[in-house]
Amino acid sequence: MADSVVTHVEIFKLNIGLLEPFRVAIGTIRQATNILVKVHTSHGLTGVGEGSPTEFIVGESQASDFEAAKSLARLLIGKNPLAVQERMNEIDAFLVGNPSLKCAFDMALYDLLAKSAGLPLYALLAGEKRPIYTCRTIGIGEPEIMARQAAEIKNSGFHAVKVKVGLGRAEDIRRIQAIREAVGDGFPIRIDANQGWDPPEAVLALRDLARFDIQVCEQPVAHWNYAGLKHVREHSPIPIMADESVFDPHDAFKLASMGACDLLNIKLAKSGGIAGAAKIDAIAQAAGIRCMVGCMIETRLALSAAAHFVSAHPNVRLVDLDSAFFQAEDPVVGGITYEGGLVHLPDAPGHGADIDPGFLAGLESITVK
Ligand code: MG
Repeated sequence: MADSVVTHVEIFKLNIGLLEPFRVAIGTIRQATNILVKVHTSHGLTGVGEGSPTEFIVGESQASDFEAAKSLARLLIGKNPLAVQERMNEIDAFLVGNPSLKCAFDMALYDLLAKSAGLPLYALLAGEKRPIYTCRTIGIGEPEIMARQAAEIKNSGFHAVKVKVGLGRAEDIRRIQAIREAVGDGFPIRIDANQGWDPPEAVLALRDLARFDIQVCEQPVAHWNYAGLKHVREHSPIPIMADESVFDPHDAFKLASMGACDLLNIKLAKSGGIAGAAKIDAIAQAAGIRCMVGCMIETRLALSAAAHFVSAHPNVRLVDLDSAFFQAEDPVVGGITYEGGLVHLPDAPGHGADIDPGFLAGLESITVK
């Protein structure tokens, strides 16, 4: 049989309302404004990918992604979609940055490759199914409300809670103290300052917060401040995880070489998808650094792809794939399911998720042929 080629690409503005605004140290997210691509082939297969461009983290917007996606789609038309590395190299050569949009294309191509091989994505990635436990995250709010949310998360079967901090040391202590009292001793609490502190503040805050038995702190300082991150790591009693400081394998290599962090947070929306994520994980593994896989505000579709990646990468020890819980509706057909914090992977070929056609029909879209 002749090689399949890409015949057309559909691009959608995938908007999903949130149950409530989600506040972190550097911004507030009010809606999921994602981008969805469907890559169709001459063999009748379709690969589906999603990117979640959070402007204040990745510098992309849904509007900029929608425009750029038309150009990236044109690069694919008539070409073999299964040569994923080649196709993504062409995309990288055409457009610098824009990792969330590239994630959507990379995910769609991997979905096609796995469907074409008749394998679930984790198997295509040479992995096996293993238990995956996601934490759930609490945005910044009033301490009593956050404590109540933390207790609910624990009671609904999650094995860890992640808490947003970084808007003031005294307030952070009140919030974390209330949460520790609500969940009791021994329940893992992860914190994420989202760049909210400078290095001296971060060291003081982390020394204060250590008495509440914190598992790890994400991104205490500005994303560009690698020396500051290393300083904090050297003076913090709590392990330090880089998040906004690590987008691509180059970042991972620099952070690992400097000894600037204990862990790396991989997100497909930062790494440009699965290929970049695998390279980051390989660098981390070579440096003796464990990884977490996290998320932006993706639907269960992109979360499914991320969960397959986790299952195939044993160096990923922590998982934060909970954004679907913030969304007011779930338009995803198939894909991962949750049993408390336990994530079940589908066995269908590809990542196993799609968006309900009725939901897609109501979205702004364009088809590139
Ligand atoms: Mg983070």
